[in-house]
Amino acid sequence: MRAVGVDFGGTNVRAALVDVAAGQILGGDAKETVSDKSPEGVAATVERVVKAVDPKNERAGVGVGFAGMLRGWTGVVVNAPNFGWREVDFRAALRKRVGERTEIYNDLNAIAFGEATYGSARGVRDVFFCFVGTGVGAGIVADGKLYIGASHLAGEFGHIKVIPNGRLCGCGMHGCLEAYVSGRNLQAIAREDLQKTTSLAVELAGGLEHLHAGHLDEAAKRGDRYASELMEQAGSLLGVAMANAVTTLNPSRLVMGGGVWEKSSELRRHTMHFFQESVSRPALEGFEMVESTLGESAGVLGAAALIAGK
Ligand code: ADP
Ligand code: MG
Ligand code: ZN
Repeated sequence: MRAVGVDFGGTNVRAALVDVAAGQILGGDAKETVSDKSPEGVAATVERVVKAVDPKNERAGVGVGFAGMLRGWTGVVVNAPNFGWREVDFRAALRKRVGERTEIYNDLNAIAFGEATYGSARGVRDVFFCFVGTGVGAGIVADGKLYIGASHLAGEFGHIKVIPNGRLCGCGMHGCLEAYVSGRNLQAIAREDLQKTTSLAVELAGGLEHLHAGHLDEAAKRGDRYASELMEQAGSLLGVAMANAVTTLNPSRLVMGGGVWEKSSELRRHTMHFFQESVSRPALEGFEMVESTLGESAGVLGAAALIAGK
């Protein structure tokens, strides 16, 4: 069976027509940077990428992994922190454009399902997936099944609280992990802090308006004090949070990925240090931590497999 999978993150959107039995992308994928973040703009982008990868309408359906919190299986996005959405009937908008057999999933659930079906977690019964990109999210495979929770909200790891009354998060609450660790928030913190001073990160970016998490990581690597402290703060919070997840869930594998995680060696270094310090020792027996093997394709493969009912 062929289905279209779409991975709609806070920065990047990817789509592909997938041979679901083989786990193969047919005829190349489509990639865009998200520009219009309004519900209509996002729906139009989904329509465009779906038609680009499946011009002959070979698909049995469209699965969309979306970076937002859903309400059960109603297709309503309750809260999308990186888009500023509250209460959007997104599935209805999508079905009008790309067909009735269209379902939306949380992006991390789609990624977890992709890695569990075709990638780094194939055949592993208990897995925790943690991705750091524009936002922070997790997926859970428990006893061989994708665990989505009582109302489709399991894995909202970016919105666990790590600092009481801390920084305001895109979700509307304060002190979330995501508010200190995600690409979007690292960028926002640095742009606030560095307005009146010069810094290596800004130099590397060629101006404050171009600065992103990658420049901060590079500046930290070269010994810049501000960037180093920011990366250490992010890594300490992330590492402890991951250790707590492993202590709570007892997975045999932890899969890490996402655009920021992959490209930020300083963030990874600090995270690993605090993870090792904090995780319960018995939980490390028979445990391993690995990188996502499907990378950018995990979400599209997983969303296609989910809509195909694999
Ligand atoms: P999405 O969140 O859309 O799924 P990604 O996982 O690809 O996207 O991550 C996008 C994030 O990565 C953005 O916040 C962006 O600023 C950040 N980023 C881009 N380039 C780099 C880099 N070289 N190093 C670290 N982060 C980067
Ligand atoms: Mg993503
Ligand atoms: Zn939050």
